[in-house]
Amino acid sequence: MSDGRTGPLPGGGAGGAGSDVHAVAAAAFEEVASAADLRVLDAVRARYLGRGDGLLTVFRKRIGSIPDAEARRALGQTVNALVERLTGAVDERRASLSDVGTDGASEAIDLSWPPPPLRRGHLHPVSRVFRDVRRIFGQLGYIAVEGPEVEYDRYNFTLVNMPPGHPSRDTQDTFFIDDDRVLRTHTSPVQIRSMLVRGAPQRVIVPGKVYRRDYDATHFPMFFQVEGICIDEGIALSDLKGTLEFFARSVYGADRSIRLRPHHFEFTEPSVELDVSCAMCGGKGCRLCKGSGWLEVAGAGMIHPHVLGNGGIDASRYSGFAFGIGIERIAMLAYGIEDGRLLYENDVRFVSQG
Ligand SMILES: [Zn+2]
Repeated sequence: MSDGRTGPLPGGGAGGAGSDVHAVAAAAFEEVASAADLRVLDAVRARYLGRGDGLLTVFRKRIGSIPDAEARRALGQTVNALVERLTGAVDERRASLSDVGTDGASEAIDLSWPPPPLRRGHLHPVSRVFRDVRRIFGQLGYIAVEGPEVEYDRYNFTLVNMPPGHPSRDTQDTFFIDDDRVLRTHTSPVQIRSMLVRGAPQRVIVPGKVYRRDYDATHFPMFFQVEGICIDEGIALSDLKGTLEFFARSVYGADRSIRLRPHHFEFTEPSVELDVSCAMCGGKGCRLCKGSGWLEVAGAGMIHPHVLGNGGIDASRYSGFAFGIGIERIAMLAYGIEDGRLLYENDVRFVSQG
């Protein structure tokens, strides 16, 4: 442990021992101040203040052997004061080293340290499908319009042929805000709003969120629809079919076939559902299409004359069709997602897939 700065106590006068202890202490303060981390500081503390053979401790032990009482007392006071000051210096240094961690790094920022890799963001599958749908219908001259998500009962139900007491209201799993307002259960109320504002002819799509009290692999309490309406003189079911065919082939590929199945909606007459031939099996039947070879992607129909009238449009002159497309459904089919809840659970492992 000896570094040559401390010899044995000189046998002579106390003055010699006193100057020796000051030299040892001076070295100790210097080492404490320059200790680069806590490990080094602990070693310095042990070297000078260690219980058994610490360099200052040794002085203290030998004080008793000094014959002159006055010199003994003077050296005792000197050594005690130095031990106290050094202990304080060690504690202070320890506190400042603890602030910057044990690796001895200074508080300065190391600009050469490599940053974590940047992760490039991308669009959510639902956003991509929305963008595609807007583009596809944009090519056909449709404009996109929006409407309120908190909607009056009469727009959500009454004016689209679901008056109070109508049994179909029960199937809508509605979130009620109060007696007069709901979270819209479909984008159809915007049909009425658009008719009242724009009259005829018009071609609009209504992309937006809708709400139902429902949650499983294919149903969500909030989901996205695109409603579309086309109103003009002489619009027929064949126009609807052509439009949906263009849409389906744009989204799913030119080789896909479509079919319209009769269905029932309150606000269209006749009503149909749109099926697209299954991408997985090419129509032969598989798990995705439940063996049918077809996948259902939209509901549609000719706008009911009552609904045209509710929108202020002369149903004896104009006719029109409407369709509603489930965006999640398209995203699930396009990206092979089996459980649509993944779309909204924000699991980074899922949403970060390019
Ligand atoms: Zn299939």
